[in-house]
Amino acid sequence: MIRPKVGVSKCLEFEACRYNAVMISNEFVRHLKDYVDFVPVCPEAEIGLGTPRPTVVLQTSGADNLELYQPTTDTVHTEKMIKLADNYISNNTELDGFIFKSKSPSCGLKGVKVYHKKSKQAVKASKGLFALKISEHYDLIAAEEDGRLNDFQIREHFLIKLYSIARFREVEKSNNIKMLQEFHARHKMLFYCYNQNILRKMGRIASNLEKKDIKLVIKEYAENLALIFSKVLSYKKRINSLIHMLGYFKEHITAKQKAHFLESVEDYRNSRISAFAPLAIMQSWTKGYDVPYLENQYIFEPFPKGIRFVTDSGKGVKR
Ligand code: SF4
Repeated sequence: MIRPKVGVSKCLEFEACRYNAVMISNEFVRHLKDYVDFVPVCPEAEIGLGTPRPTVVLQTSGADNLELYQPTTDTVHTEKMIKLADNYISNNTELDGFIFKSKSPSCGLKGVKVYHKKSKQAVKASKGLFALKISEHYDLIAAEEDGRLNDFQIREHFLIKLYSIARFREVEKSNNIKMLQEFHARHKMLFYCYNQNILRKMGRIASNLEKKDIKLVIKEYAENLALIFSKVLSYKKRINSLIHMLGYFKEHITAKQKAHFLESVEDYRNSRISAFAPLAIMQSWTKGYDVPYLENQYIFEPFPKGIRFVTDSGKGVKR
């Protein structure tokens, strides 16, 4: 099984490196340690601020500039932080995902307060400086904050994206059009749930009728892969895809089986069960009725089953 490479803010389950020398407990990160290769980093400790340390903030003089500033020592650490981010990037050229600690002026992925240099008032919100550099560099990455990953739909989307990207890395390394076409074929139903227009475009790119250079083809495909995952999976589109897939079995299943499946889809629509329940029914049909095209689709197991929490039933998800 493939093991994605995932950056993580070190204070999440790895080290007591927060400004107050504590570690943050995070069940998801702890659980994920068995399935991914984490690359932990504590940007503030690694630029030499020590632990424990006086807090730092983001500040601006009003223009677009952003500084990492430590008020108690009256020191600006922007350049050191940018250098550290550059080093981290050059040591980790292939990164499939990143889990950031929220609200940190270094690691926060959104909504970090930026204070005006003179008035000391919060004037806008930004990413933390390290997170900003990481986001600017990696075009294709599953990046999220710890808190948002408590949400079932966001967590599921993160895992689908993470594992799809990790599988795509194999295609990138191979530089082989057949591998790209196989990747596309096996992800079709999964991508169908996300965006059918982009799916069709990706199909045209992978078929490469214009006989373009393979590197260019893979680059174009990667851009669209990033685009198709830019929005969280909508349950409505997922239901459409389940109904679409049902068409593959119309000559095989009985009216009773169809009714049972549709009941399961309704339960999913009403947040009583997760999408994996109707998908499991369908997956068993693909084997029993010999539908090889669907049997190999990643929609049935986009990431290892073991990662799903018991609480990941999807029950009561707000829609
Ligand atoms: S949020 Fe980032 S900088 Fe702050 S302690 Fe955690 S890893 Fe270190």
